[in-house]
Amino acid sequence: MEYRHLGRSGLIISEIAYGNWLTHGSQVEAEAATACVRAALDTGITTFDTADAYAGTRAETVLGDALKGERREGLEIFTKVYWPTGPGRNDRGLSRKHIMESIEGSLRRLQTDYVDLYQAHRYDVATPLEETMEAFADIVHSGKAHYIGVSEWPAEQIRRAHALARELRIPLVSNQPQYNALWRVIEGEVVPACEELGIGQVVFSPIAQGVLTGKYAPGGQLPQGSRATDDKGGAGMIARWLREEVLEAVQRLKPLADDAGLSLAQLAVAWVLQNPNVSAAIIGASRPEQVAENAKAAGVVLDDDLMARIEEVLEPV
Ligand code: NDP
Repeated sequence: MEYRHLGRSGLIISEIAYGNWLTHGSQVEAEAATACVRAALDTGITTFDTADAYAGTRAETVLGDALKGERREGLEIFTKVYWPTGPGRNDRGLSRKHIMESIEGSLRRLQTDYVDLYQAHRYDVATPLEETMEAFADIVHSGKAHYIGVSEWPAEQIRRAHALARELRIPLVSNQPQYNALWRVIEGEVVPACEELGIGQVVFSPIAQGVLTGKYAPGGQLPQGSRATDDKGGAGMIARWLREEVLEAVQRLKPLADDAGLSLAQLAVAWVLQNPNVSAAIIGASRPEQVAENAKAAGVVLDDDLMARIEEVLEPV
């Protein structure tokens, strides 16, 4: 494993992190989840990402159980707040009430006294940003979170939050966006703004939820047990890439990966890590073998020629 600073902060994290959206507490049983966490630890992954709302709060419980017995100081645990955690009108969003209640639930489920990074899962248009940032400041000052991050926030909101964070003397160090060779939205405005502010990207879905592994063959059957066949929420989100032209282009990446001595999944993870504003790629996995395979992308350098050949293949899609 290789390790990077989270943005321009002193916190060092594994450049490949392991996340449990759609898997722990949902698609896979606790035993398989624990096996994935163990596989992650075996590769040198120390950074784990979850959220209060994943699997209706069960994902945090499963992760907390799987990490039991590990030395807390050797781990970086990230969680998030915003999406609904219950039926009430205050069980969501970035109000002071919900943030204060949600962090307590997260710490209880994760069985820890603090999280390393506490992230606003989305921007909340219904809550004044000042209220949110003041609540985050109280959480940091109470020691319940060490750093603050956002997730999928537009550049302008990141700038405003960063200015408030400076006033409140709390470290806003990261953004968690979707980023992979098929989805590059952040390159336009978010990355330039974050580079300027010292904010790092902790990117999600680096292999486009499995599509960039090449296992979804064009014109073929969906592989059984894959995310695209998962009826608990996965299938909907992956659908945008299950188009013939995308799946065919991914197959054309295979000889490039072979030449580089990489699997397609490793090529995809390595691709996001070439962006210097990326602090970590968060991989997901339904099986421990996937973690072991994908984590081997750590430290891989893709030269300019290979990056250009990847571009040629993907540019049309
Ligand atoms: P990935 O792009 O890494 O997709 C992971 C999925 O791809 C696995 O669950 C598995 O699904 C399949 N897969 C992984 N490796 C292989 C392999 N080697 N061969 C074949 N199939 C493979 O990331 P995710 O979309 O899971 O996102 C990762 C994390 O990012 C999440 O857990 C979460 O922590 C975070 N995230 C954050 C979001 C946000 O809004 N902030 C949104 C989404 C994710 P299967 O076996 O079922 O096909």
